[in-house]
Amino acid sequence: MTILIRNGTVVSSTGATLMDVLVDGETIAALYAPGASASQGIVADREIDATAKFVIPGGIDVHTHMEMPFGGTMSADTFETGTRAAAWGGTTTIIDFATHHTGERVQDVLAQWHAKADGNCAIDYGFHQIIGGVDDDALKAMDELVAHEGVTSFKLFMAYPGVFYSDDGQILKAMQKAADIGATIMMHAENGIAIDVLAAQCISRGETDPVYHGLSRPSVLEGEATHRACVLAGVAGNVPLYIVHMSASEALEAVAAARHTGANVFAETCPQYLYLTLEETLAKPGFEGAKWVCSPPVRTGHAHHQADLWKGLRTNELAVVSTDHCPFCFKEQKEIGVGNFSKIPNGMGSVEHRMDLIYQGVAAGQLSLNRWVEVCSVTPARMFGLYPKKGAIAPGSDADIVIYDPSASHTLSVETHHMAIDYSAWEGVTVPGKAATVISRGQIIVDDDQYLGRKGHGRFQKRGLSQYLS
Ligand SMILES: [Zn+2]
Repeated sequence: MTILIRNGTVVSSTGATLMDVLVDGETIAALYAPGASASQGIVADREIDATAKFVIPGGIDVHTHMEMPFGGTMSADTFETGTRAAAWGGTTTIIDFATHHTGERVQDVLAQWHAKADGNCAIDYGFHQIIGGVDDDALKAMDELVAHEGVTSFKLFMAYPGVFYSDDGQILKAMQKAADIGATIMMHAENGIAIDVLAAQCISRGETDPVYHGLSRPSVLEGEATHRACVLAGVAGNVPLYIVHMSASEALEAVAAARHTGANVFAETCPQYLYLTLEETLAKPGFEGAKWVCSPPVRTGHAHHQADLWKGLRTNELAVVSTDHCPFCFKEQKEIGVGNFSKIPNGMGSVEHRMDLIYQGVAAGQLSLNRWVEVCSVTPARMFGLYPKKGAIAPGSDADIVIYDPSASHTLSVETHHMAIDYSAWEGVTVPGKAATVISRGQIIVDDDQYLGRKGHGRFQKRGLSQYLS
């Protein structure tokens, strides 16, 4: 099947140009100057008029947790529901985390994640490998995953002692291995040892409401851990280090300082840290704040975290916006933590809304149109070895295309979203812009408020090494 997208504005990280885009089968076949496809008599099975719309490479969300066990329950979106919701919002690739705990065999965990995703995804997907406890077997597994499995990034935790935590020696060993084989280390950078002490002290004082989740994880402990991760990455020979879900000014400063020395240190943030404050969410009366419990926590609006994160996005100290999509229903899942905030499953659902929420930054003058495409699609592809198959509107690239209507607007709500959760962390937020048509490898999967995709269309993507190193 061929598709001709006429009269749209093709937006890349470097420009915005009126062009026609011809899709043939699963890939982009050609780009034409305005009018050239008509004068050359190009016809297609399907033509789409994209006048006054943006034509952008499909969104790539490099941080999701579908069907992830956590604290005795499981994140509520399956690969089927989560990738369908992503498609609705203009995301055409996710990279999810195969989640290893201390004592498990890494290869077995990766096989489990393949089994969960295989045949169920609406869009393409890849995996990062979490290493929850570095030992000799895990280090050997890193070789195998990079060489044979197309899994080239490994996430470690400085938080969650006893569950995912690695100490500095374990982190250094994994970084040395990664440096050896060209892999990227991703880091959850919060000082979890200190946080667990503060959390236990809160509970013992009877401070059990959701707000204490935020208050027991101060931003300086994210800054300290981020700095330590940057130092260890330097000791390990300038291994590529990618700080996940950055929320705090102190952490941004640590990354900026490392980058100014020329280190291969990168970072992402997520919409919740750009828009939500502790006072407006976690601090709501009663247990309602549990809806916004995630780690790191959303930060106080009395400091300048949000302004700094937006600035970091503009200056490339923050290279990517992902979601850390990890949804839990309020009923029965978040409620596990009634009377003890430390038992509340961590995470919220945003995979459907990332493109719109960050486009809101464009509409508000926080970010340029090109930078929106860069942080949501182009850099994620380059950072994690998918470019230019993904992240580009160019001949030969996969036809993952979003036709985005900047004049549309819609209101986010549990009533209308497609994620498998019983509330929206974004309830009532009206965003400018909307994905009008979403194409995944040449298949139209969303068009004019209709879902046309199917589970099993999405394919596993073997990834190469990072293409984003200095
Ligand atoms: Zn995460």
